[in-house]
Amino acid sequence: MKILCVLYDDPKDGMPKSYALDSLPKIEKYPDGMTLPSPSGRDFNPGDLLGCVSGELGLRKFLESNGHQLVVTSDKDGEGCTADKELVDADIVISQPFFPYYLTRAKMETAPNLKMAITAGIGSDHVDLQAAMDRKVDVVEVTYCNSRSVAEHIVMMIVSMVRDYHTQYAIVNNGGWNIADAVQRSYDVEGMHIGTVAAGRIGLDALRKMKPFDTHLHYFDRHRLPEAVEKELNLTFHDSVESMVKVCDVVTINCPLHPETEHLFDEKMISKMKKGAYIVNTARGKICDKDAIAAALKSGQLSGYAGDVWFPQPAPNDHPWRSMPNHGMTPHTSGTSLSAQTRYADGVREILECFFEKKEIRNQYLIVQNGELAGMGAHSYSKGTATGGSEEAAKYKK
Ligand code: NAD
Repeated sequence: MKILCVLYDDPKDGMPKSYALDSLPKIEKYPDGMTLPSPSGRDFNPGDLLGCVSGELGLRKFLESNGHQLVVTSDKDGEGCTADKELVDADIVISQPFFPYYLTRAKMETAPNLKMAITAGIGSDHVDLQAAMDRKVDVVEVTYCNSRSVAEHIVMMIVSMVRDYHTQYAIVNNGGWNIADAVQRSYDVEGMHIGTVAAGRIGLDALRKMKPFDTHLHYFDRHRLPEAVEKELNLTFHDSVESMVKVCDVVTINCPLHPETEHLFDEKMISKMKKGAYIVNTARGKICDKDAIAAALKSGQLSGYAGDVWFPQPAPNDHPWRSMPNHGMTPHTSGTSLSAQTRYADGVREILECFFEKKEIRNQYLIVQNGELAGMGAHSYSKGTATGGSEEAAKYKK
């Protein structure tokens, strides 16, 4: 079979010759008891850089020794790109949300052999899920592999934004010492009302991680959490996003992108938020209206916006979020720490092994199967597509 794997570019100075840490901490299980990915083997060292082209997700030896063809590229956007050319006879496509290969209906129609799209990570909105259902292309992802990595990033961003770390760090780097400048937007998180849109694996973990800051915790989700969890964390459940954002100082967005959540945070929703609130969005850029966010930061309706997700990706060089005031944006990195890469590379191999050996793929990994939303897809997504406008990714110039 032919496997097309779209990965981000190598480091500018070539692959690392050594790493900051010699080994990774050992994690046995995820908090709900789900086991970590368990492929039959591994051809890399845990902690290696695997998500870039030369890292190949550690798959080449395994695939080639089993008679398969692996094509890896980062040339994924614009007419005539390598990925589009290689797609036409590919059986399986692998792509990471950090550097997504937007698998639109038009692209799928060029690929009659395509059987499966694997997300090396979590969040399969870069695939036109409706087209995948219509064309019976299965879509799978490595559920839980980086959920807790993202929750750590959320905590980092809430605390650094509320305390205004970025300004203070810049003052030091610029040789300055004006403490009044450094603190005029700096607050404590303690006592704040923090709310999450969605309390799935990431949202719930972020709430848990914020609890020790002595905050008041809120959530909205289409699935209510067990009563015991609500009690343990003293959570306030809201039956609408509007009800929650009215009372929160910090709102973190943790639902998948699908037609119900696309542009959920538009001008109208932002106007219902508490004046001066902060948003941390590590879910997907398109859940927010980019111009409405930039305008709210300029007017002061929002005090800060941080996250690592953009639309499209890579973000065009003139994307307003690169230059808006009081932002704490990173490129899409929260789920691709070296720790997470080990887990999702293992997960992709587990999925491929199941597929080749005609064994069942874990139900938790399924988004679309046999023409229907399945597994986590049925739990967390709605039908339709959210890939419209993704061709704009070609505007990014290195
Ligand atoms: P999950 O499936 O465990 O949780 C998703 C939650 O969203 C579920 O509880 C579901 O009920 C809820 N939800 C779905 N639609 C909703 C709606 N319309 N309104 C309210 N709640 C809704 O997934 P997860 O592991 O928590 O990941 C969530 C999302 O985070 C992913 O789909 C992905 O988009 C994003 N993510 C980002 C990164 C990153 O690197 N930044 C990494 C992993 C995941």
